[in-house]
Amino acid sequence: MFRAKGPKMTEECIFCQIVSGNIPCAKLFEDDQILAFLDINPWSEGHTLVIPKLHCCCLEECPASLLGEIAQQIPALAKAILNVTQADGYNVLNNTGRSAGQLIDHVHFHIIPRKPGDGIIRHAPQGQYPPGRIDEIADEICGLLR
Ligand code: 5GP
Ligand code: ZN
Repeated sequence: MFRAKGPKMTEECIFCQIVSGNIPCAKLFEDDQILAFLDINPWSEGHTLVIPKLHCCCLEECPASLLGEIAQQIPALAKAILNVTQADGYNVLNNTGRSAGQLIDHVHFHIIPRKPGDGIIRHAPQGQYPPGRIDEIADEICGLLR
């Protein structure tokens, strides 16, 4: 299973430093468990990061209740962000692991406002399974979930 290599200590983690107020941020929302702020290097105006205040490197290490809190806030945040940026869509993105582009080892969800033709995220070419392979993969994964 994926385990991010990276900071465990809050002092070494940029997002923990943001939570503690040691590093400033453009804050959009905060409660006792989560924080939302603007990404410093946005893919588009209004690009937002939503994080748990608790340091967890990745989804598997984040308590389900915290993930639930984040999921609950995303629609309201997105609505306000889209209103201000005049975007008409958004991507919610979580990068887990270096191969997936995770740079900061404190779990976070990107909300990325989108406009028609902005070209920010392009669809990857779609693959195909050889005969029978889709069932093999599904069976193997289901076997680990049981
Ligand atoms: P990742 O690639 O880990 O999914 O995304 C990390 C994001 O954090 C990047 O989009 C990056 O621009 C953002 N980021 C990194 N350092 C800071 C910072 O100090 N402040 C803010 N607001 N965003 C940051
Ligand atoms: Zn952290």
